[in-house]
Amino acid sequence: MPKSNLLAVTSITPDHFDINQLSHQRFKVYTAKQLDQIPQLQQLSAEQRFEMQVVASVLPFRVNQYVIDELIDWQQVPTDPMFQLTFPQRGMLKPEHYQRVADAMRNELGAADLKALISEVRAELNPHPAGQLEHNIPKLDGEVVEGLQHKYRETVLFFPSSGQVCHSYCTFCFRWAQFVGDKDLKIAARESNQLQDYLRAHPEVTDVLVTGGDPMVMKTRNLRAYLEPLLSDEFAHVRTIRIGTKALTFWPQRFVSDDDAEDLLALFAEIQAAGKHLALMAHYNHWKELEPEVAREAIRRVRQTGAQIRAQGPLLAHINDDASVWARLWQTQVELGIIPYYMFVERDTGARHYFEVPLVKAWEIYRDAMQQVSGIARTARGPSMSSHPGKVEVQGVTEINGEKVIALRMIQGRNPDWVQRPFFAKYDDQATWLNHLQPAFGEERFFFDE
Ligand code: SF4
Repeated sequence: MPKSNLLAVTSITPDHFDINQLSHQRFKVYTAKQLDQIPQLQQLSAEQRFEMQVVASVLPFRVNQYVIDELIDWQQVPTDPMFQLTFPQRGMLKPEHYQRVADAMRNELGAADLKALISEVRAELNPHPAGQLEHNIPKLDGEVVEGLQHKYRETVLFFPSSGQVCHSYCTFCFRWAQFVGDKDLKIAARESNQLQDYLRAHPEVTDVLVTGGDPMVMKTRNLRAYLEPLLSDEFAHVRTIRIGTKALTFWPQRFVSDDDAEDLLALFAEIQAAGKHLALMAHYNHWKELEPEVAREAIRRVRQTGAQIRAQGPLLAHINDDASVWARLWQTQVELGIIPYYMFVERDTGARHYFEVPLVKAWEIYRDAMQQVSGIARTARGPSMSSHPGKVEVQGVTEINGEKVIALRMIQGRNPDWVQRPFFAKYDDQATWLNHLQPAFGEERFFFDE
């Protein structure tokens, strides 16, 4: 899209925003069991609806009325990006997996056998990429601290037990295993004081990232119980509190018209007033998520508290593998006061085969999108892989001494000494993840391979 068109995107218009228009909007959600109750799905064939049931029996499905009514363009289904983002599609299971589950459902396999089959299929979908269950779990006094992950020295991830769902589920979610009701696959804090105990023992931690699921599904009083103690002097080393959320897209009413919305905004303001930096790590995949007036009102209200909103999300086939979509997304974010932060690479889990984009193509899309926006919108890093050794950014394709190579950079490393190290891989236009790449220049291994 030419820049002149991008600039035509409307800005926030609080003057004509009427909160009373929202008062009738109550949160209503559909899960796999209620798929047939969604009136708009009746426009699809019986076969398509069966395919959705099959996929939704393996991968999590949850969508709310706001997404159905305000974000999906039903004239464009099934290719509509918001439909692809939230509704199961046949291709999201590999053909052999699809066939096994579809046959079982058609033949009305007994409940126990069907459950066992589904568990088997899930186990083949790499439910915990980048060694999440084995490598990042911290200990305190020799005991595993549940609900926390500590991979990078300065940042702790906290998974509050009551924040382990989302207002809707994304079909590509890399944390999908959290949502399928299997206790063995779930990471969640059992006690609210675990976080505090751990932080007391780790003065090197400056950043706490509250994540899920989506912590914004919690009532404000629960979120407050976790966050308010961190404002006291004993946690002076915690400088930044980040909250990972997609509520600005999936349920912006959380910040506008929910019963405890005002209290939530007051909590944000308190955190800022205590001298901490509060950042909402907002998950966005498409500029369409920023169009509804209520979504813009939510952004305006959050920003008024002094909190910052940083935007991140993966590059995905079927949803946003198009430079003009990213250019418009970043440009709109800047106009609404959001900082574009990351373009991620789809992780090696779940329905990855359906969404993945080769690294070289991802970089081409990133570069093309960057070229369409002004410098102020060029703050997004990317495309970046959250891999086992660390966060690796694809910096581009180049030629060195006659060898075509992919240039990469370790943005964040398991070993702090690796941070910001550049390195090179042999050119490979099919590779979709770090482990597909070979070192360039005849090297045997990358510096992080031990
Ligand atoms: S909002 Fe985030 S955690 Fe929730 S389903 Fe989407 S990607 Fe997963």
